[in-house]
Amino acid sequence: MLNIGIIGYGGMGSYHHRELIKKEDGVQVVGAYDIKKERLDAAKNAGLTIYESLSDLLSDKTIDAVLIATPNDVHKELAIQAMTSGKHVICEKPAMMSTEELDDVILVSNETGQVFMVHQNRRWDNDFLIIQDMYQKKPIGELFQIESRVHGANGIPGDWRHLEKHGGGMLLDWGVHLLDQLLFMVDSPVKEVSADLSYVLGDEVDDGFIAYITFENGVKALVEVGTTNFVKLPRWYVKGLEGTAVIDDWDLSGRIVKQTGEIDHHNLVPIKAGQGLTKTMSPPSEDATTTLPIVEAAAEYDGFYKNFYDVVVNHATPIVKNEEVRNVLALIENIFEVSK
Ligand code: NAD
Repeated sequence: MLNIGIIGYGGMGSYHHRELIKKEDGVQVVGAYDIKKERLDAAKNAGLTIYESLSDLLSDKTIDAVLIATPNDVHKELAIQAMTSGKHVICEKPAMMSTEELDDVILVSNETGQVFMVHQNRRWDNDFLIIQDMYQKKPIGELFQIESRVHGANGIPGDWRHLEKHGGGMLLDWGVHLLDQLLFMVDSPVKEVSADLSYVLGDEVDDGFIAYITFENGVKALVEVGTTNFVKLPRWYVKGLEGTAVIDDWDLSGRIVKQTGEIDHHNLVPIKAGQGLTKTMSPPSEDATTTLPIVEAAAEYDGFYKNFYDVVVNHATPIVKNEEVRNVLALIENIFEVSK
């Protein structure tokens, strides 16, 4: 059994990770440390051992690993202190504020032999698994255009996410997830990037962004995060050489329209469009297409904590590899740069 101490008993630490860990056999949360007294009280009320200082937690020999779930700017110092104290580390995303910080952390992980693994949990999201499956198995042919969006209307939540010094902003928040999914799926290096960050709400950090990414294999992607969108666009819109798929939301509503017959280009039936007629924009002929529902994909790998346990105990390969995490941070740096 791996005993885990949580550093940062806030939203993610106290709820998400505790619930996730409860489902796994090989790991258990035993204690917590937070700089805020009320969060320590919450951990105590939840039956955990609480530590008044970071060094108290790190010197406890019964703790095998720590989960870092603090604001982003302190991930680096906490990860390095934990590993040099002989603890393995699970770190919330974004792993670090820059590739430079991550390089320092990976060096310490290599030197100490302690595992450093980043919680890129959205690799297990069903909507993503469906699109990844489409990319690999090609039911609508080769995907050549991938649009991945998340839209909300509530602005930037909380306190520290509004501030640059804490690593706030949406590119470092939801952006990390969407870009991680994209790079995990598309098996080709990034060729070109252009991007636009949004500051509609007047914060010092971005409240959303649009990035256009072209891969060397020709795949083009649009990744968008918005926090001022009172009407959402679909979570995924992807085009393959033989069809189009749309997943509207996390409830997996959506559809796939696949070309299954020849389109009779000479006898297209026009539709009335505004004050004119159009054949070009007529719906696809029912004889030439089939509409299919979105079917839940079976996850092909075990969950995050099962993998973490296997990496620590059985030296298994991590599903979230540090070089992948680095590639995402490098892309984020590129997006910040080109959007200036
Ligand atoms: P939060 O503000 O709810 O909680 C952060 C906690 O860390 C607070 O209780 C705060 O007091 C504590 N803290 C701050 N500095 C500390 C320090 N030096 N030592 C110990 N504790 C400290 O924030 P959150 O929403 O839980 O986010 C925490 C981390 O989790 C961030 O890195 C965020 O990006 C990440 N996150 C990941 C996901 C995901 O889906 N993977 C979702 C939300 C947040």
